[in-house]
Amino acid sequence: MTDLRIGHGYDVHRLVEGRALIIGGVSIPSPVGLLGHSDADVLTHAVMDAIIGALSLGDIGKHFPDTDPRFKGADSLVLAAHVCDLMTERGYRVGNIDATVIAQAPKLAPYIAEMRDNLARTFRVSADRVNVKATTEEKLGFTGAKEGIAAHAVCLLIKD
Ligand code: MG
Repeated sequence: MTDLRIGHGYDVHRLVEGRALIIGGVSIPSPVGLLGHSDADVLTHAVMDAIIGALSLGDIGKHFPDTDPRFKGADSLVLAAHVCDLMTERGYRVGNIDATVIAQAPKLAPYIAEMRDNLARTFRVSADRVNVKATTEEKLGFTGAKEGIAAHAVCLLIKD
Protein backbone atom coordinates (compact mmCIF):
# COMPACT_ATOMS: atom_id res chain seq x y z
CA MET A 1 0.00 0.00 0.00
CA THR A 2 1.23 3.46 -0.86
CA ASP A 3 2.38 5.49 2.14
CA LEU A 4 1.82 9.23 1.68
CA ARG A 5 3.10 12.03 3.91
CA ILE A 6 2.33 15.75 3.70
CA GLY A 7 4.61 18.56 4.86
CA HIS A 8 4.45 22.32 5.23
CA GLY A 9 7.25 24.88 5.39
CA TYR A 10 7.39 28.63 5.96
CA ASP A 11 10.37 30.98 6.01
CA VAL A 12 11.15 34.68 6.13
CA HIS A 13 14.37 36.61 5.65
CA ARG A 14 15.04 40.30 6.03
CA LEU A 15 16.14 42.37 3.01
CA VAL A 16 19.33 44.38 3.51
CA GLU A 17 21.92 46.17 1.42
CA GLY A 18 25.19 44.42 0.70
CA ARG A 19 23.81 40.90 0.33
CA ALA A 20 23.13 38.81 -2.76
CA LEU A 21 19.49 37.99 -3.51
CA ILE A 22 19.30 34.22 -3.97
CA ILE A 23 15.91 32.58 -4.32
CA GLY A 24 15.47 28.96 -5.35
CA GLY A 25 19.18 28.83 -6.13
CA VAL A 26 18.89 31.69 -8.63
CA SER A 27 21.03 34.78 -8.16
CA ILE A 28 18.73 37.70 -8.95
CA PRO A 29 20.02 41.20 -9.75
CA SER A 30 18.84 43.48 -6.93
CA PRO A 31 20.16 46.41 -4.86
CA VAL A 32 19.23 44.45 -1.72
CA GLY A 33 19.52 40.82 -0.71
CA LEU A 34 18.38 38.47 2.02
CA LEU A 35 20.15 38.44 5.39
CA GLY A 36 20.95 35.12 7.00
CA HIS A 37 23.63 32.76 8.30
CA SER A 38 23.58 30.74 5.07
CA ASP A 39 22.85 32.26 1.66
CA ALA A 40 19.36 32.97 3.11
CA ASP A 41 17.57 31.29 0.20
CA VAL A 42 14.07 31.71 1.59
CA LEU A 43 12.32 29.50 -0.98
CA THR A 44 14.74 26.60 -0.66
CA HIS A 45 14.48 26.83 3.13
CA ALA A 46 10.67 26.65 3.01
CA VAL A 47 10.82 23.58 0.76
CA MET A 48 13.44 21.92 2.98
CA ASP A 49 11.22 22.53 6.02
CA ALA A 50 8.22 21.05 4.23
CA ILE A 51 10.15 17.86 3.50
CA ILE A 52 11.68 17.70 6.99
CA GLY A 53 8.16 18.19 8.35
CA ALA A 54 6.69 15.42 6.19
CA LEU A 55 9.38 13.10 7.56
CA SER A 56 8.58 14.17 11.16
CA LEU A 57 12.23 15.12 11.63
CA GLY A 58 11.72 18.47 13.35
CA ASP A 59 12.75 21.61 11.50
CA ILE A 60 15.54 23.09 9.44
CA GLY A 61 17.12 24.77 12.48
CA LYS A 62 17.59 21.39 14.16
CA HIS A 63 19.48 20.01 11.16
CA PHE A 64 21.39 23.15 10.18
CA PRO A 65 21.85 25.35 13.29
CA ASP A 66 22.58 29.00 12.49
CA THR A 67 25.24 28.91 15.22
CA ASP A 68 27.26 26.29 13.30
CA PRO A 69 30.16 27.86 11.37
CA ARG A 70 29.93 25.04 8.78
CA PHE A 71 26.72 26.59 7.46
CA LYS A 72 27.95 30.20 7.31
CA GLY A 73 27.35 31.42 3.76
CA ALA A 74 26.24 27.90 2.79
CA ASP A 75 24.66 27.22 -0.60
CA SER A 76 21.16 26.22 0.47
CA LEU A 77 20.79 23.84 -2.46
CA VAL A 78 23.68 21.83 -0.99
CA LEU A 79 21.87 21.73 2.36
CA ALA A 80 18.68 20.76 0.52
CA ALA A 81 20.51 17.84 -1.11
CA HIS A 82 21.22 16.58 2.41
CA VAL A 83 17.50 16.79 3.19
CA CYS A 84 16.86 14.80 0.02
CA ASP A 85 19.24 12.13 1.36
CA LEU A 86 17.29 12.01 4.65
CA MET A 87 14.15 11.44 2.58
CA THR A 88 15.55 8.72 0.31
CA GLU A 89 17.20 6.91 3.26
CA ARG A 90 13.69 6.53 4.68
CA GLY A 91 12.30 5.18 1.41
CA TYR A 92 10.37 8.27 0.33
CA ARG A 93 10.37 10.26 -2.90
CA VAL A 94 8.75 13.57 -3.74
CA GLY A 95 5.22 13.28 -5.11
CA ASN A 96 5.00 16.99 -5.66
CA ILE A 97 6.07 20.32 -4.22
CA ASP A 98 4.07 23.55 -4.43
CA ALA A 99 5.63 26.78 -3.19
CA THR A 100 4.82 30.48 -3.10
CA VAL A 101 7.32 33.31 -2.73
CA ILE A 102 5.90 36.57 -1.37
CA ALA A 103 7.91 39.58 -2.48
CA GLN A 104 6.96 43.12 -3.43
CA ALA A 105 10.10 43.45 -5.57
CA PRO A 106 11.84 42.50 -7.74
CA LYS A 107 9.55 40.83 -10.24
CA LEU A 108 10.33 37.12 -10.01
CA ALA A 109 8.52 35.83 -13.09
CA PRO A 110 11.67 35.72 -15.29
CA TYR A 111 13.40 33.45 -12.76
CA ILE A 112 10.64 31.01 -11.84
CA ALA A 113 11.52 28.34 -14.42
CA GLU A 114 15.14 28.22 -13.24
CA MET A 115 14.06 28.02 -9.58
CA ARG A 116 11.80 25.13 -10.46
CA ASP A 117 14.59 23.32 -12.32
CA ASN A 118 17.02 23.85 -9.43
CA LEU A 119 14.58 22.45 -6.86
CA ALA A 120 13.59 19.53 -9.09
CA ARG A 121 17.23 18.58 -9.69
CA THR A 122 18.11 18.90 -5.99
CA PHE A 123 15.19 16.74 -4.86
CA ARG A 124 15.71 14.29 -7.76
CA VAL A 125 12.29 14.65 -9.25
CA SER A 126 11.05 15.79 -12.65
CA ALA A 127 10.25 19.49 -12.99
CA ASP A 128 6.58 18.78 -13.65
CA ARG A 129 6.31 17.74 -9.99
CA VAL A 130 7.58 21.09 -8.73
CA ASN A 131 5.59 24.31 -8.86
CA VAL A 132 6.86 27.74 -7.83
CA LYS A 133 4.59 30.78 -7.69
CA ALA A 134 5.32 34.39 -6.81
CA THR A 135 2.97 37.01 -5.48
CA THR A 136 3.03 40.38 -3.80
CA GLU A 137 0.95 41.28 -0.77
CA GLU A 138 -0.36 44.45 -2.38
CA LYS A 139 2.15 46.65 -0.51
CA LEU A 140 0.75 45.42 2.82
CA GLY A 141 2.85 44.21 5.75
CA PHE A 142 6.61 43.60 5.86
CA THR A 143 6.78 42.06 2.41
CA GLY A 144 4.79 44.96 0.98
CA ALA A 145 7.17 47.42 2.65
CA LYS A 146 10.11 45.53 1.06
CA GLU A 147 11.52 44.78 4.50
CA GLY A 148 11.67 41.08 3.80
CA ILE A 149 10.65 38.17 1.61
CA ALA A 150 8.58 35.19 2.74
CA ALA A 151 8.00 31.76 1.25
CA HIS A 152 5.50 28.98 1.89
CA ALA A 153 5.81 25.41 0.64
CA VAL A 154 3.86 22.20 0.83
CA CYS A 155 5.03 18.80 -0.32
CA LEU A 156 3.69 15.32 -0.67
CA LEU A 157 6.07 12.42 -0.14
CA ILE A 158 5.42 8.91 -1.44
CA LYS A 159 6.77 5.57 -0.24
CA ASP A 160 5.93 2.92 -2.81
MG1 MG B 1 15.69 30.55 6.41
